[in-house]
Amino acid sequence: MTDQSHGHPSLLELRDLSRHFGSFRALDEVSFRVRAGARHAIIGPNGAGKSTLFGLVSGTLPVTAGSVLFDGQDVTRLPVHRRVGLGIAATFQHSSLFMRESVLENVLLALLRRPGGGLGGRRKVAARPKAIARAHALLDQVGLPTRYELAAAELSHGERRQLEVAVALATDPRLLLLDEPAAGMSPAETDRLTALIAALPAEVTVLLVEHDLDMVFELADTVTVMHLGRHLMTGSPDAVRSSAAVQSAYLGTAEAAS
Ligand code: ADP
Ligand code: MG
Repeated sequence: MTDQSHGHPSLLELRDLSRHFGSFRALDEVSFRVRAGARHAIIGPNGAGKSTLFGLVSGTLPVTAGSVLFDGQDVTRLPVHRRVGLGIAATFQHSSLFMRESVLENVLLALLRRPGGGLGGRRKVAARPKAIARAHALLDQVGLPTRYELAAAELSHGERRQLEVAVALATDPRLLLLDEPAAGMSPAETDRLTALIAALPAEVTVLLVEHDLDMVFELADTVTVMHLGRHLMTGSPDAVRSSAAVQSAYLGTAEAAS
């Protein structure tokens, strides 16, 4: 594997990471690094293993073999909450919002679940002006400043994705994993989400799985291409765009499909 870190420290390093389902290799000895501060995208056709990879990094799915290093620490077997405590936050392809709770409560619950936040329940939530101010700031940041009292279920699809990002940011992540955040979004919603991700502070490293290649090439400084559970390449957006192997495995199919 070539060293993509260019002397910068890696925040995340995957070493020969594999996940099998029975005899099927959903992820097959994948190795690459994510530089601290990167806007790193993972692309590849459906079934490439992208969501599986996110499950192994976030801890929702146990690995078959290989390791996950976060900031130099082996987190391969840590439970999800310990990884969240270290600064790994994820939004998932299938929403994990509390649909009956209000927009504000979804963010407050995430704020209070984090280490040091305590588990005070609703009454204490109401009594924490600092948490409420922080929740308002996060909702502003993701572009949902006037929807506080609506139930999550009442939001549009795009607004729910924005809320999921606010919930993830509430855990103060150093690494934010976004799995197809623009899926099902209107062009205007996608533009808003792209701007929101672009505006995240450099302290938040972003690892993004996305089918919308315009969004990928607008945001990413590094792109990893996967195909059938394998790592095809990691490089600059230009290097990826001009790779013949990538074009035949992915870009060609994507363009033919659109
Ligand atoms: P991607 O996100 O790149 O579309 P996934 O990581 O979701 O791909 O899936 C990779 C492959 O692993 C797919 O062929 C999928 O059907 C398979 N797979 C994912 N999860 C499971 C599971 N729980 N059991 C069996 N096969 C699975
Ligand atoms: Mg997926």
